[in-house]
Amino acid sequence: MSTGPYPTLMSPVKVGHTVLKNRVIMGGMHTRIEMSENAGERLAAFYGARARGGVGLIITGGYSPNAAGGYDADGPFLMTRQQAAELEQVTEVVHAEGAKICLQISHTGRSARHDGLVAPSEIRSPINRFTPRALSHADILETIDDFANCARLARGAGFDGVEIIGSGGYLLSEFTTRRANMRDDDWGGSVENRHRLPVEIVRRIRSEQGPEFLITYRIGAADLVEDGQTGDEIDQLAAALTDAGVDLFTGYVGWHESRIPTVAYPVPRAAFTYAIERLKRGLKVPVAACNRINMPQVAEDILSRGAADMVYISRPFLADPDFVAKARDGRTDAINTCIACNQLCLDHIMTDREAGCLVNPAAARETLFDVTPATRPRKIAVVGGGPAGLSCAITAAARGHDVTLFEAADTIGGQINLACAVPGKTEYKELLRYYQNRLETTGVTVRTGTIFDATILGEQGFDAIVVASGVTPRLPDLPGIAGDPRVVTYDELLTGRAKAGHRVAIIGMGGIGFDVAKFLSIPQEVTTVPAVFQAYYGLDPTLHEAGGLLGAALSFPPARHQITMLQRKVGRPGATLGVSTGWIGRGFLQRQGVEMRTGVTYRRLDSDGLHIEQDGKPEVIALDTLVICAGQNPNPVHTPDDLPVHLIGGAHRATELDAARAIEEGWRLGLAL
Ligand code: NAP
Ligand code: SF4
Repeated sequence: MSTGPYPTLMSPVKVGHTVLKNRVIMGGMHTRIEMSENAGERLAAFYGARARGGVGLIITGGYSPNAAGGYDADGPFLMTRQQAAELEQVTEVVHAEGAKICLQISHTGRSARHDGLVAPSEIRSPINRFTPRALSHADILETIDDFANCARLARGAGFDGVEIIGSGGYLLSEFTTRRANMRDDDWGGSVENRHRLPVEIVRRIRSEQGPEFLITYRIGAADLVEDGQTGDEIDQLAAALTDAGVDLFTGYVGWHESRIPTVAYPVPRAAFTYAIERLKRGLKVPVAACNRINMPQVAEDILSRGAADMVYISRPFLADPDFVAKARDGRTDAINTCIACNQLCLDHIMTDREAGCLVNPAAARETLFDVTPATRPRKIAVVGGGPAGLSCAITAAARGHDVTLFEAADTIGGQINLACAVPGKTEYKELLRYYQNRLETTGVTVRTGTIFDATILGEQGFDAIVVASGVTPRLPDLPGIAGDPRVVTYDELLTGRAKAGHRVAIIGMGGIGFDVAKFLSIPQEVTTVPAVFQAYYGLDPTLHEAGGLLGAALSFPPARHQITMLQRKVGRPGATLGVSTGWIGRGFLQRQGVEMRTGVTYRRLDSDGLHIEQDGKPEVIALDTLVICAGQNPNPVHTPDDLPVHLIGGAHRATELDAARAIEEGWRLGLAL
C-alpha cells in the first residue's frame, strides 16, 4: 500500500496482464484536436503532459472504426495505416513518461451527427435529426471486422490496448436494449442476442491480439432511459464480456438522450457510484467508477470503501494535467479543480469547436502558447481580484514579475463569490482555493480591503498597471425603481445583503437571471447530496427497473417563492445558456412553477407592482421583490497617464462577460507582460 494522503488511489493495480502504477484512469474525451492540423503533434503534447503528471492509464478520445460510426462525418477515424502512423508519436511520448495508453474505439451508432448513420433498427434518437439505417446481418459482420481492424491498427501504433465504448446510446449499447433494438434475428430479441455484437467484438479482438493486449470496456452501469437495461441484464452482459476477454470495465451512466443530468455541475460529486458498486458485486475483473469525481478525496473514499477498483476521471485532466502528481505529493490545494461547468469542453464539442477549459486556458493548447520567463521582470499592479485579475496576477508572477494585487473587498474572487451561492455552483469555491494557493506559491502580494488610488501609486513605483476592476450591475432606466425598497440587484441578493419576499419578479433572463431564480427555488442539497439528487430525479439504485428509473421524479421540494422571470427579447427562455447545461436549470425551474415570460415591455414600477406590456396588452405583476439581473456596466478605475495601462475582463468590456473570457484575458495578458 502506498503512503501519502490517498493511499488506495495511489496503489498499483493489476489489470489483465498489465500492472498500472496507480488507480487513476484519464478517461476518454473528444477534444477535436484529433481533427486539427498537426493532430499527432498536438495530441502528443496533450497526452504527454498528463502522463508526465503521473496518471497510470490514459484513454484517448474516441476513434471510429468505420465511416458510419464517426461522431461527425469527418471523424475522427482509425481505419488506415496512415491514420495510425500519426498516432505513433502519441504512444511514444506517453510511454516515455511512464504511463500506459489505450485507444478508445467509438462507434456512435444512431447518435452520429451525419446522414450516413446506422443502428440496430431504424429508430431515430430523440435528440438527433437524422434517422439511422438498420444494419443488415452482413453489415454487422463487417462492423466486427472494422472493430478488429481498428484494434490491430492501434496496437501497430504502439497502444497498450483499446477501450470499446459500449454505453451512452452509442452503437453497442443500442444493440443491448429494446429501446433501440427491435430486431428479430440473431442480433436482437433475447438478452443473449442483444448482447451478441459487443461480445463477438471483444472475442474477436482478444483472439487476434492475445492475452497481453489490454481490453477495457466502457459499460453502461445505468442507462437512465426508458426501456434501458435492468441490473440483471447488465450483469449478464458483463459476465459474457468477461468470458470473451475484457480485462477492465470502465463505468458510464446515462445515454446522451437521457433527461437525467450526469456530468454537469448540478450533479453532486460521485452521485452515480451506486451503479458501479452494484455492478462490481458480480464482477471477476476490476471496474472503474465514473462521473463527478473531481478531487482525490472523492476518489479515495470510493476506493477505500470498496465501491470500485479504479476511478475514471476525464475533465479534471483538462483542468489540471498534474492532478495525480499533486495528489500523490500531498499538494491537494494546488489542484486546479474541474467545476463541471461544461462551458469550454462539452459545450464546445457540441458546437463544433475545439475543447478547452474554463479554469485552465492552456488546456489542449499545449503547442500553441509558450510560457517563458519574463525577459525584463517588472513591478506590476493588478487592480481587481476577480477572475481576470487573479488569472493575470498568477500568470505574470509565475513568469518572474513582481506583482501586487489590489482588491477593494475583504476577500478575493469578485463575481466568483456570487457563483458560489448558486445551487450546483459550489464547486466555484475550489477555484477560489486554487487561486489562493497560486497567489501564495507564485509570491503575489495581495492587498484586500484596499482601494487603489493615487496615494498607493505614489508609494509603490509600479512599471505597469493591469485594470481588472470588473463590473457593476446595470440598472434599467425604468420609472419608479430608483429608491424603491422592493428593488434589489442580483449581487445584493446572492451575497445575502438583501432578502427576497414571497412574490418575486426578475428582470433579465440571462445566465444571472437563471442563477437568481435557482438560488430562490432549489435547495443546495439537490445538487450536493447524492441521495437527495437520486430521489429528486427518481433514480432506482437497485436497478431492478429498466434503465434504473423509477418513473416520475419522486420528491419535488416545495416552491419557496412565486417567481416570474422576464425579458424583452422574444424567443426561447434561456437561449444564451450553455447547450449541455441550460436544459437542466430550465427543467428545475419549470418543475418549481417558475413563470418565464419573453417579449415584454417594461412600463413602470409603482405600489401595484411592475407594469408591463406583452402582445400589446398591459398587465401588472404584483410583487414583494424586484430583482434586477439586466447585465453589467464596466467599472474601470482612474489610472495615471504616464504608465502603461492594460484593461481586461469586465472593466474592459462588460457585454457577454463570463468567467471563461475573464480568465482567458487575464492569462493571455499574464503571458504577454
Ligand atoms: P446577459 O446574459 O447579458 O443577460 C442580461 C439580461 O438582462 C438579458 O435577459 C436582457 O434581456 C436583460 N437586459 C439587458 N439590458 C437590459 C435593460 N437595459 N433593461 C432590462 N433588461 C435588460 O447577462 P447576465 O445574465 O448578467 O450574465 C452575464 C454573463 O455571465 C453572460 O455572458 C452570461 O452568459 C454569463 N453567465 C453564465 C452563466 C451560466 O450558467 N452559463 C451563469 C451566469 C452568468 P432583454 O434585453 O431581452 O430584456
Ligand atoms: Fe471542467 Fe468546466 Fe474545464 Fe470542462 S470547462 S474541464 S467542465 S472546468
